[in-house]
Amino acid sequence: MFTDSHCHLDFIEFDACRDELIQRCAILNINRFIVPGITAKRWPRVLELCQKYSNALPCLGLHPWWIAKATENDLILLEQLINRHDLAAVGEIGIDGAIDNIEKQTDYFVKQLHIAKKHSLPVVVHHRKSHHLIVPELKKASLEKGGVIHAFSGSYQQAKAYIDMGFKLGIGGTITYPRAIKTIKTVKKLPLDSILLETDAPAMPLEGFQGEVNSPEKVVDVFQQLCSIREESPELLQQAIEQNLQQLFKLD
Ligand SMILES: [Zn+2]
Repeated sequence: MFTDSHCHLDFIEFDACRDELIQRCAILNINRFIVPGITAKRWPRVLELCQKYSNALPCLGLHPWWIAKATENDLILLEQLINRHDLAAVGEIGIDGAIDNIEKQTDYFVKQLHIAKKHSLPVVVHHRKSHHLIVPELKKASLEKGGVIHAFSGSYQQAKAYIDMGFKLGIGGTITYPRAIKTIKTVKKLPLDSILLETDAPAMPLEGFQGEVNSPEKVVDVFQQLCSIREESPELLQQAIEQNLQQLFKLD
């Protein structure tokens, strides 16, 4: 069984085809989806979707790309929703070094880390050109449940900084691009207990599908690519990834 540990099933790209998509995923043995929320405005959609599809698990968070519009009230609402719903994690949160507003991004990242800690939840972390900003904040927050560094790309040393804090790394379509030499080299060496699979659909299309809407179905292709990079058998990899999911998120 496969899990797409990071896909935005609530996005409008899937509005016209969501039922069929989930059916097609089931045929491919993709039977679980972790769905991160990105803005307070969209949280109700994520919760609604995860009520409709029992194999879709919600996370709620304020994503750094939309942080300019975020308010303290959103953080209050986040805590209220955590108390009322069974969330898999707080996310998608993070710091994106390629856009401005780093100060507010960091402020809201840290505040959401504290909320996750208070409620004993893991976090789903977005990074881009920001390992140097994220690692120190995660160290300070010292989350008991850890979390996942979504769409990880970087060196083994950068990966290790997260793994040492008990974090998993979300491995996605990046490894299908031959030019991602550094990340592929890192993924080859990662400890088995640190790997999760994801697509980030509808974003981050795989190599050969640039410009297209990405789909959670592609988690199988990411897995195949992972198998070609790693030395373990596909069975062992699949088993380890399932264990990692069970360990990180509250799963049945
Ligand atoms: Zn995402």
